[in-house]
Amino acid sequence: MTNKKDVVRKRKKLQSMARKSYIFKRGDKRASTPRICVVCGRPLTSLILREGTYITTCSHIRFYISDVFTLDCCLDIHSCYRTLRQKGELNEHVNG
Ligand SMILES: [Zn+2]
Repeated sequence: MTNKKDVVRKRKKLQSMARKSYIFKRGDKRASTPRICVVCGRPLTSLILREGTYITTCSHIRFYISDVFTLDCCLDIHSCYRTLRQKGELNEHVNG
């Protein structure tokens, strides 16, 4: 289980670790790999079978942690909340 405060904290941590970040908007075809939000687990890209390429299905931020390591996360924090809620992993009764 997680809560909204945790989600905010994780996203801030990503931002603080990243050397740079880049936003991929929905429909962007430059995303060439399967991507998943590290905070909520939502798939961010999907394969277009007939083209063999990936398309961004959920706007997200790509954090460049190092030259060889990147992490992706939903652009909209509400996307993370919604996904976690659907999975039953969001505890909304924690205050603070
Ligand atoms: Zn997310």
